[in-house]
Amino acid sequence: MLEATRRGTCRHCGSADLHTFLDLGETPIANVLVEPWQSDDVDAVYPLDLVFCNACSLVQISHDVPELFPEDYPYYSSVSDHLLRHSADHANGLVETRGLGDKSLVIELASNDGYLLRNFVEQGIPVLGIDPAPGPATAAIEAGVPTLINFFGVDMADDVIAEHGTADVIIANNVMAHVPDLNGFVAGMKKLLAEDGVITVENPYVRDLIEHAEFDTVYHEHFCYYSASSVQAIMKTHDLSLNDVEYFEDLHGGTLRYHIGHRVEQTERVKNYLERERESGMDSLAYYAAFGDRVAGVRRDLRALLERLRSSGATVAAYGAAAKGATLLNYAGIGTDLVEFVVDRNVHKQGKLMPGTHQPIYDTDTLEERKPDFVLLLAWNFKNEIVEQQSAYLEAGGQFIVPVPSPAIVQ
Ligand SMILES: [Zn+2]
Repeated sequence: MLEATRRGTCRHCGSADLHTFLDLGETPIANVLVEPWQSDDVDAVYPLDLVFCNACSLVQISHDVPELFPEDYPYYSSVSDHLLRHSADHANGLVETRGLGDKSLVIELASNDGYLLRNFVEQGIPVLGIDPAPGPATAAIEAGVPTLINFFGVDMADDVIAEHGTADVIIANNVMAHVPDLNGFVAGMKKLLAEDGVITVENPYVRDLIEHAEFDTVYHEHFCYYSASSVQAIMKTHDLSLNDVEYFEDLHGGTLRYHIGHRVEQTERVKNYLERERESGMDSLAYYAAFGDRVAGVRRDLRALLERLRSSGATVAAYGAAAKGATLLNYAGIGTDLVEFVVDRNVHKQGKLMPGTHQPIYDTDTLEERKPDFVLLLAWNFKNEIVEQQSAYLEAGGQFIVPVPSPAIVQ
């Protein structure tokens, strides 16, 4: 079995002044679902914890684990309606504000199954996707979105420029948290960006992780957790400027979109964000110090609630076989005795088992067939969408449990 490696230094600045403030124990890799025929002891577990870098304020996990991108990596973006709408708005906004046309080039890093780039393709704007996961990338190519199946980095940027030229727009959504070589990735974007081009980056906001106890967004594939301050520091190192931010409250528990360019053209909005982060102390360890105790409280309360429901004879299932569900179930030690099965709309996940805790994953119709009394919303970031889709389950008397910021039954 391959071992995890503990990093002694910051993933961005190399400082050894790192402080652990959350320990989630040892958990399996959250996106590697278990096949039903595999034995009970199949799951390798690795340490999962969060550290704060005192030198550059970047929040990050301390261990690297082997083999994060298996061939059958099950995440396909196109399964969420909310994300599709958000992406179409993003693309249309860029076309308008940047005046994109048939001579432009839009490059997306971690383009998945082409869910975002196809909005540009439909308007005749040249695009190139780059994604290391063969399953989603092949789906993108088949859907008419040109895609290179590869990890993006500074070495690859030269090849892309030779073949396609520099990019007017580079989009990197929910990928900067996932790149093992953060500096190589940003240096690659710097190289690839046309002189007056723009980079837009979306990441879950570390402020929401901390303030809403969203500890289940921590998993081994998610190396870094960003604030405007840490993004600004990283971009500055690479001679790029953070020029604007936009906040999306309902996306992945709170997302910041960063606008980055070669020249310094900072808006008042981004200056205000940076100022507020300084005022709330996000650039110092004290801001993060109490988080571990708060998360332990969520685990204690959630287990108590589920044990009480089960001992009163209630049946409990869960919704959303995403990585955050695996973190929550494993950290809280919620096995099939407390939560019997998980449902998910993604056909690629159905028929498999949750890593570590081994709940079987079924399609969402199972909620109406088996009518569990309660459904734990593991995919709480899609709460409104799920509640809307499952109105029949709710009308039949079913109830949802939301685990964070503190476990609660929603009517
Ligand atoms: Zn650092």
